[in-house]
Amino acid sequence: MTDSIPKMSVVIVPCSGIGKTYGTVSREAAYDVTDDLRPEETQLVALSMLVLGDEEARSTVASNPAITIDGCKLACATKMVRESGGAVAQDFAVLEVYRRYKQFKPQGIAELNEGGLALARALAEEVAGVVDGVGS
Ligand code: SF4
Repeated sequence: MTDSIPKMSVVIVPCSGIGKTYGTVSREAAYDVTDDLRPEETQLVALSMLVLGDEEARSTVASNPAITIDGCKLACATKMVRESGGAVAQDFAVLEVYRRYKQFKPQGIAELNEGGLALARALAEEVAGVVDGVGS
């Protein structure tokens, strides 16, 4: 007999810091998690859909634990998840993560340099670790 209860999916919400390097790092990290590291356990919800009040995005966020990744102190993703009725299991701030990985110097906006990609990857690994804790 198989377990018929669907596994809870962890929602990953990066901020939409378009035009800012840290915003690009946050989105890149979110893609790393949802596409590469934990594709079965996670799903990406775009901040813009929550801002627009998209019903499906709101209900996904309201019914699953969320991990947010923000590019600056304004914490748009974290605030918007909470305003959408979601529970934030953990909120990441790119700047905080950068402080732990000073060797990576992120640059670039449309395209990140190698340091930016490495920082995004390190951040994604931390997010994946939280996903494992939330899902177990
Ligand atoms: S958290 Fe900061 S970088 Fe991200 S969308 Fe908001 S203002 Fe922009």
